[in-house]
Amino acid sequence: MADCLFCRIVAGEIPATVVRESPRILAFRDIAPQAPTHVLVVPRDHHANIAGLVADDPALAIELLQEAHAVAAAERVADAGYRLVFNTGDDAGQTVHHVHAHVLGGQPLGHLA
Ligand code: 5GP
Ligand code: ZN
Repeated sequence: MADCLFCRIVAGEIPATVVRESPRILAFRDIAPQAPTHVLVVPRDHHANIAGLVADDPALAIELLQEAHAVAAAERVADAGYRLVFNTGDDAGQTVHHVHAHVLGGQPLGHLA
């Protein structure tokens, strides 16, 4: 999708700090980090949200989870603990409608969800 921010990052049209990539997944640092580790993990293919991804390509949804954990391990937050967040829809505050896992860690994250 030409007007999708994360499709443009995947295409290399907008710069990002990439921390991990595979043939179908890209992981890059959030531009406004909310924790010491804050990485966004996205499929290269455009899907609007996690519900759409699971419905359309469940194997890719599993790969996204595997890559998210690999990011946590590489960031050395996997043992201490980390959080995966998929904001989905307006009430969750989803602002970029290309599915992305937030990988958050590096400090105690509080009790929300
Ligand atoms: P959402 O609110 O949709 O779950 O998360 C979107 C995330 O994308 C936000 O955490 C926001 O900081 C991040 N973001 C927005 N624009 C950019 C950008 O141009 N580059 C990067 N790396 N992150 C962005
Ligand atoms: Zn997209």
